[in-house]
Amino acid sequence: MKQYDYLIVGSGLFGAVFACEAKKKGKKCLVLEKRDHVGGNIYCENVEGITVHKYGAHIFHTSNRQVWNYVNGLCEFNNFINSPVAKYKGEVYNLPFNMNTFSQMFGVSEPCEAMGIIEKQRSEITGEPENLEEQAISLVGREIYTKLIKGYTEKQWGRDCKELPTFIIKRLPVRYTYDNNYFNDRWQGIPVGGYNTIIEKLLEGIEVRLSTDFLSDREGFLKLAEKCIYTGTIDSFFDYSLGHLAYRGLRFETEMLDCENYQGVAVVNYTEREVPFTRIIEHKHFEFGNQPKTVITREYPVDLGEGGEPYYPVNDEKNNALYEKYADLAKAQKNVIFGGRLGQYKYYDMDKCIEAALSLCEKELGE
Ligand code: FAD
Ligand code: UDP
Repeated sequence: MKQYDYLIVGSGLFGAVFACEAKKKGKKCLVLEKRDHVGGNIYCENVEGITVHKYGAHIFHTSNRQVWNYVNGLCEFNNFINSPVAKYKGEVYNLPFNMNTFSQMFGVSEPCEAMGIIEKQRSEITGEPENLEEQAISLVGREIYTKLIKGYTEKQWGRDCKELPTFIIKRLPVRYTYDNNYFNDRWQGIPVGGYNTIIEKLLEGIEVRLSTDFLSDREGFLKLAEKCIYTGTIDSFFDYSLGHLAYRGLRFETEMLDCENYQGVAVVNYTEREVPFTRIIEHKHFEFGNQPKTVITREYPVDLGEGGEPYYPVNDEKNNALYEKYADLAKAQKNVIFGGRLGQYKYYDMDKCIEAALSLCEKELGE
């Protein structure tokens, strides 16, 4: 008999959901977390009464009723709707791409006028789009691509739009109505007081060791439990034996300002290439705050150097193929299950991450 049923590497959403469900089934879990706090990338800090999303803007949205019910059992959600604004060389546009954007970009007011212009511009793409550039032009035409997509995307991913997969741009809605909601999902909101409540509830009564890197004593930790749920990067688990998977890093520059309202909206995207950051978040707007001061964060995409945090998997063909090889190695590991954004090398949003964790729970722990 080993000391624990499950060793869970990583205290992000995936690991925490699994730990919580396993505990409900009477399983004994140990969670290891290399950072000095739990929660992974949804962790928040309170600064002068403002909830600061420490690792970038996190807006919860889902069309999955089971997931929505699950998170509402953990915290209360407010009625925040993400309606970011894009700035391009001093011009301001609504996002996602909708009638407000088309009206600002083309000076039109009716859907058929906007459709006519975009139809004409997109005719340069014939056949199935093969990369992000072709996909974007075929969705919204060259002018919007040039002003709102090209610069932002090349900063975000550090490579040419022609070298990126089409699915990345298909995340964004394109609609011919005056609707600035960034998401199409049925439910949306921000946990009142931030995301920490969710993680704290999930990990209630579970042993967590902070500032502990699983890889510092892999064999020793694995001996402690019958099985391991691993939510770190899959290539690091295998000592990069098949090569490094590409991840995009981020640098956050956070500043407190002595003003009440800096940009009037939670997220402003800076879409020209010349501005080095991709977006500025003004955290108080996630919760309609009226504190006298404000906290803003500039988000700079960076190459992942030695020791940098991996934030985004780069799911291009080359890296997906390498991931598949690691996934084969993973299948051969009888007692280790790989999960989450890093363990499965998938561009998961929070709801998809919870959905995947719950589906693993069903398989592993039973109904
Ligand atoms: P993570 O949160 O990355 O957790 C993994 C944990 O494992 C980390 O805490 C890490 O420190 C730990 N770990 C890794 N290796 C080891 C090791 N060797 N030993 C010990 N611990 C280890 N989703 C949305 O739905 N809406 C949004 O608006 C949204 N915005 C985002 C903005 C940004 C900038 C980013 C990066 C992501 C965003 N997401 C958003 C996605 C969301 O963050 C993820 O879906 C979710 O946090 C993934 O949870 P996870 O548990 O898989 O991974
Ligand atoms: N994107 C863009 N311009 C914008 C916002 C997004 O070109 O103003 C593109 C960019 O390639 C980005 C992708 O759309 O990586 C997905 O955007 P999303 O906001 O979903 O990215 P995330 O919040 O996950 O960073």
